[in-house]
Amino acid sequence: MKKHNFNAGPSILPREVIEDTAKAILDFNGSGLSLMEISHRAKDFQPVVDEAVSLFKELLNIPEGYSVVFLGGGASLEFCMVPFNFLEKKAAYLNTGAWAKKAMKEAKGFGEVVEVASSAEANYTYIPKDYTIPTDADYFHITTNNTIYGTELKEDLNSPIPMVADMSSDIFSRPIDVSKYICIYGGAQKNLAPAGVTFAIIKDDALGKVSRYIPTMLNYKTHIDNGSMFNTPPVVPIYAATLTLRWIKEQGGVKEMERRAIEKADMLYGEIDRNKMFVGTAAVEDRSRMNICFVMAPEYKDLEADFMKFATEKGMVGIKGHRSVGGFRASCYNAIPKESVQALIDAMQEFEKLHS
Ligand SMILES: *Cc1c(COP(=O)(O)O)cnc(C)c1O
Repeated sequence: MKKHNFNAGPSILPREVIEDTAKAILDFNGSGLSLMEISHRAKDFQPVVDEAVSLFKELLNIPEGYSVVFLGGGASLEFCMVPFNFLEKKAAYLNTGAWAKKAMKEAKGFGEVVEVASSAEANYTYIPKDYTIPTDADYFHITTNNTIYGTELKEDLNSPIPMVADMSSDIFSRPIDVSKYICIYGGAQKNLAPAGVTFAIIKDDALGKVSRYIPTMLNYKTHIDNGSMFNTPPVVPIYAATLTLRWIKEQGGVKEMERRAIEKADMLYGEIDRNKMFVGTAAVEDRSRMNICFVMAPEYKDLEADFMKFATEKGMVGIKGHRSVGGFRASCYNAIPKESVQALIDAMQEFEKLHS
């Protein structure tokens, strides 16, 4: 049976990316060696990293003066690298979910942290809008897509100070104005590659402004100066990321990814709003295109396990909601086809018919 992969992360990748990575794992570029058994410094591998960097720059329209690096440690390590490298006295954070909160917790070890606003009191079902960003802070940190709660900042905010953004789960799903940020980072395993590589886009002249000692491996400059090769980079995930970036380009770039994301999200939210058995959990204006969260309507609450079983039998994978929200979460990343979203909608409609 065809599986429809709605996993939140690690998550669906384009089929051809998986197939071509598998081929390179068996025989990289006709070398007779596996991608897993070559040096990251092999002359054939350098072009893979170079291409990933140049596709990042091209697809996101990254201005001059920015570097793209590939790191280990996940977005979770960036929570600490960001303040290590950019926080001298004070930083502002928007608390929109569990990941934002973790980022804020790390920053507190480096200086004063101002939480400009929080939606914790409403279990992060919306993104706060009215708040003041302190103009004397070193940066304003946001999480553009809240993977767990299904809320998303779908446009770049205006901030009086440079922004830092965790874009783990919505990078390459829309055009962004990189010039508003000094750092954009994320784990690649949501929209780009298998787990194991982290990306960071860094404004070069924002570095070197903190007075503390930064350990070599946690210093962005180390990785920029060494082209992501200071230590052994995760070769296989970087290779897969390069193929995904090529795929995005072939499909028409981030504008096309955005068009598809809007189309898929509109389809599924349309059904959630129409179908009397389900309700969406996020505030309508903040609804994420990437992670679509919904629960059973109160009068059908006891059918939750039944629907899960029903949908699973029809090939849906990964639709169980995060434990802090409950219900269901359908992650609709770039690689998920419209047909999978339609299959979920069909299952919801059939389930409604069965119970009316
Ligand atoms: C998944 C996720 C993280 C954590 O990423 P790791 O690479 O596992 O550290 C952080 N932020 C957001 C928004 C995420 O979706």
